Amino acid sequence: MNLLQYLFPRQCCICKETLRQNAPYICPACKKSLQSQTAHGFIEGEGTHLDRLISCAYYKDDFKKAIKAFKYYGRLYYKVPFAKLLLSAYIRSGSEEFDLLVSIPSTLLKRIKRGYNQTEILAKEFERAVGRSSIYSPVLKKIRKTKNQAELTGEERQENLKGAFALKKDANVSGKTILLIDDVTTTSSTLEECAKVLKRGGAARVIALTLAKTGGRG
Ligand SMILES: [Zn+2]
Repeated sequence: MNLLQYLFPRQCCICKETLRQNAPYICPACKKSLQSQTAHGFIEGEGTHLDRLISCAYYKDDFKKAIKAFKYYGRLYYKVPFAKLLLSAYIRSGSEEFDLLVSIPSTLLKRIKRGYNQTEILAKEFERAVGRSSIYSPVLKKIRKTKNQAELTGEERQENLKGAFALKKDANVSGKTILLIDDVTTTSSTLEECAKVLKRGGAARVIALTLAKTGGRG
């Protein structure tokens, strides 16, 4: 063990337990507990564009803290355990084939302010975990600023997002099945709005895969 490893031992990103140096930042107990919360379902109903939603676990407790640390406090290496969780949820949902991997975009201003886009980092790491190169395709762009979704009611959320996303000029999604990556979803409004843009661009199916979903107990 070198000095750095001694001073900064590798910890589980959820419970902070000390791990072996090469472990993937999550302990077996936390991994098991999160995997038991994985939810996936088909979305039906008129006017919905999103076909499926797969979420690794509930947005609560220490998992919520870990996602916040990744999102706001630069713990970018959490992408490793997070991508593994995404992969495990995807496999457990039946590994439906997809053509393109797309992440939820942020505005340029927000990206500059934060220095990175966490969903893009997550999607790229997922691409690596799934072992398929060149499937990550950032075809969406956010064309205007929106209010923080967390402060709005369900209806206001839909309204807030209308026309906020667009397909990039050279994007080709025609006939493709898209796997759309996001960190946290509450009412799926953002995913649904992005799915609408993708479907209007000709996408055949849109499956959303998120790290967390709100609504868990506690
Ligand atoms: Zn742990």
